[in-house]
This record gives sequence, structure tokens and C-alpha cells, in this order.
Amino acid sequence: MKGSKWFLFQFLVVCIAGGLIVTYVRSCEKRKTYGYFKETRKESVKDTDQKEQAVSSLEVLAEQNQEEEAAEKKVFLTFDDGPSEVTETVLKLLDDQEIKATFFLIGEQITEETEDTVRHMAEEGHEIGIHTFTHESDEIYASAQSYVEDVVKTSKRIEEVTGKKPVYYRFPWGSVNNYISGYRKEVIETLKGMGYEYVDWNVSGEDSVGNPSVQSIYSNVRKDYDKYQEPVVLLHDSSSNQLTAETLPDIINLFQSAGYQFGAMRERSCPYQWCRD
Ligand SMILES: [Zn+2]
Repeated sequence: MKGSKWFLFQFLVVCIAGGLIVTYVRSCEKRKTYGYFKETRKESVKDTDQKEQAVSSLEVLAEQNQEEEAAEKKVFLTFDDGPSEVTETVLKLLDDQEIKATFFLIGEQITEETEDTVRHMAEEGHEIGIHTFTHESDEIYASAQSYVEDVVKTSKRIEEVTGKKPVYYRFPWGSVNNYISGYRKEVIETLKGMGYEYVDWNVSGEDSVGNPSVQSIYSNVRKDYDKYQEPVVLLHDSSSNQLTAETLPDIINLFQSAGYQFGAMRERSCPYQWCRD
């Protein structure tokens, strides 16, 4: 070969070699890139699986917590100063929703006219407690003996109507009041020895002081309603407490929306008391 032929031969050799090298390099890059994507995809699938597992575990835990919380939260609605003509309205509102509550009754108000209402309370499974016979501070708080006698008299009246001796009692104006300060402990211990336990409250509708309205009763309850695992709510069902009955559906709804169950006092972990001395 000589001259231009030799040059053409060299040119062809260089082109073929170059082409082969470029093809080889590209195929290497392609393999590397594909491998990278494959690995990345594998990792990301693994990551997603782990994340999904973690999220579903958290969801299960959250559901369990919610269920436990809902099961533990129980509210105890209590009504003082009945029975009265308002009581049947209160009972209907409670019974329609199968809600149990506690009533602290005034003995002298258990008359022939109200006996059926008291029996109705008992039949529906509500707790019936004692709130003294007269609710007259001068009479009931005259001495330790007069207070104890008053409680026993009311207890007998309730037992006469329902066939069941009450367990719980509530001091008018609560267990810490000026009337009883001198002999409070004596009264509590004497009555405890007779099988009675007193109950105070930690949420109040303030429905028996001043000039309550539907709005004021509701906002007084809402102010404190979710501060406790087992709130004890003070409300009243005397003849002047029509507004309490009107507010009751909203109060029930408030607790239901927050996941509370409703119970009678015997279902509480312990009777709520301001002082344990
Ligand atoms: Zn009262």
C-alpha cells in the first residue's frame, strides 16, 4: 500500500477503534447509572416500608391511648336540693340518654307527691344520697349531734321509700363551711362509723347563687369541666332550678364531646372530698 490508500487505511482503523471505545464507555456508564437507580429505588422502597410500618404503629398506639383515655374519663353529675317539680324533667333528660347521676335529697321534700319521683330515681339506677332533712343552717348545724341526727332521719326517710339505705351524703355549703368548723371531724367520723361517706364537688354550675342564666350555668361548668379525670359536677334540682334543667342537654353534650362516660357516685374510684384529715 502506498500513498493515499495507506492514509485511508489508517483513518478507518482510527475510526473503528474510536467507535468501539465510545460504545464501551457508554455501556459502562449505563450499567453504573442503572445500578445506582436500582439501588436507590430499593433503598427508597425499604424506607417507605419502614415509614409506613412506623406510622401504622403510631396510629395503633394513638387509637389505644384514645380508647384508654375514653374508658377512664368519667363524669359524675350531682343534683342537690330535690326532689321537686323540676326533678322529673331532669330524670327524663338523663334517662333518655341512659345517663346515671347522683341526687342528694332534702328529707322534708320527700312527700306523698314526690315519693314516686324518688322511686323513679332508684328504679333508673341513679344514686340517691342525703342532703339533710331541712337544709336550715340554724337547725342542722346547731351541734355535731344535731347534724348526725338530721342525716340519720333523712336516711331513714329515703330507705322507707326506696327500700335501700343511702351511702353518700353532702354537706349543705360543702364539707368546709363556717357552720361546722368546730366539730367537722367529729361529724365525719361518727357518720363514717355508721356507714356514710360525704361527697364534695370540683366543678360547679353556680346555679343556686345570684341570678343564674342558661349561659352562666353552662360557662361555669365549661370553665373547669376537662380539668379532671373524674369530675364531680354540682348542679341543683330544687323548684327554682328550671334553668338548670334547660342547660342540662348542653352540659351533657359538652362532656360527651370530650369523651367522658357518665356514672353514679358508687362507680367513682373514691368519693370526692375537699379535705382528707
Ligand atoms: Zn343544698
